[in-house]
Amino acid sequence: MGNTGVLNITMPERVSYIIERLEAAGHEAYAVGGCVRDSMLGREPQDWDITTSALPEETKAIFSRTVDTGIKHGTVTAMFGKEGYEITTYRVDGKYSDGRHPDSVAFTRSLEEDLKRRDFTINAMACNSRELVDMFGGAEDLENKLIRCVGVPEARFGEDALRILRAVRFSAQLGFDIDPATLDAAKKLAPTLANISAERIHAELHKLLMSDHPDRLKLLHDLGIDRIILPELEHTSQKGLLDELCDRMAAAPAVTSVKWAMLLLYTGSASEIMHRLKFDNQTIYTVKALLRFGQTPVAELDPAGMRRLMSDAGLELMEPLFDFIHASSPGLDLAGAKALYRSIIEAGDCTDIRLLAVNGHDLMQAGVPAGKEVGKTLDMLLSAVLADPSFNTREKLLELALNNRQD
Ligand code: ATP
Ligand code: MG
Repeated sequence: MGNTGVLNITMPERVSYIIERLEAAGHEAYAVGGCVRDSMLGREPQDWDITTSALPEETKAIFSRTVDTGIKHGTVTAMFGKEGYEITTYRVDGKYSDGRHPDSVAFTRSLEEDLKRRDFTINAMACNSRELVDMFGGAEDLENKLIRCVGVPEARFGEDALRILRAVRFSAQLGFDIDPATLDAAKKLAPTLANISAERIHAELHKLLMSDHPDRLKLLHDLGIDRIILPELEHTSQKGLLDELCDRMAAAPAVTSVKWAMLLLYTGSASEIMHRLKFDNQTIYTVKALLRFGQTPVAELDPAGMRRLMSDAGLELMEPLFDFIHASSPGLDLAGAKALYRSIIEAGDCTDIRLLAVNGHDLMQAGVPAGKEVGKTLDMLLSAVLADPSFNTREKLLELALNNRQD
């Protein structure tokens, strides 16, 4: 890591190296956007984006291994082993006719032009080892904890409505307020979020929920965004449940399925919303399972009941389930239930049909007719084992299976 000294931004060695190589070839190059913002905040940047006056072909001539990741938009990824760094040519975005994609992009040799197209002042700073380029007061807004559009907010949101949701998301991630003029424009143009794809809305909502300040989802309602992208949440607000939801949201750990189950708990139509927002099947399955098993009175379960829950819900669901129940019913004392759950895990009790001491094949050999009867018998044996783990021996289970048949 090389420290830039005056700026107090520590760039990874690789990033300094890339910038130096580009400069040595006669180009300008800077780290830009989120990485500069996060460094200045003392947060670890997720990735380091580089912006340069070099055209993509010029960049490609400098580095030995590159991938054309977004060549149309001027982005080339320089590869170092498995690690890649995105290097994007300074660009200006053309007219936005549809409120979500520029009709064209044009390259420019001016850093100022490139910074101007960026959404918020805090995202529009660039730095190299010598200087911080901050043309729109980004450092001051960082200081004052403000999200503010670069340029005229209405125009910027008019170009790309996703920026409205990004403003709320950054507010939640950073704990910043949104500047009044930016806030007004967001409110005015919120209806244009109807043009934005479900995938992008999902991605932003996800970052909002997983942030340090998920209670800022209140802004979605204040700005009239909820009724456009999540009408079911507006109903939650109308029922006066929004404050409660925000509190609970903040109390839930940052686990995807738990956060979404919390959000959707109040809407009553989780499945529909998740399909609309293009969730993957695994997450849909897990969130629905949390909502279903979240009704279980876990604090009242005896050992057999807890083993039954573990079997029905599946072991992978148990930790998120405790988190979800804790977040959705904050008054409930779960210490006893968790201790019981752990003691069952430690004892190694069977809570899965696949871990019974006999399988379907064993049952058929013992005379249970192939087909439905095998499954039914295994279910019956599992029930017996959940009630009393000591039954899980081959001898006892076969005996139980055969006695049952003679009944
Ligand atoms: P994150 O930590 O979420 O990655 P980020 O600031 O890096 O935050 P990205 O979406 O990775 O956000 O975008 C990188 C940079 O590109 C931003 O900092 C901003 O300068 C610019 N940018 C991204 N999306 C937009 C947009 N919709 N409109 C204008 N500028 C944008
Ligand atoms: Mg980024």
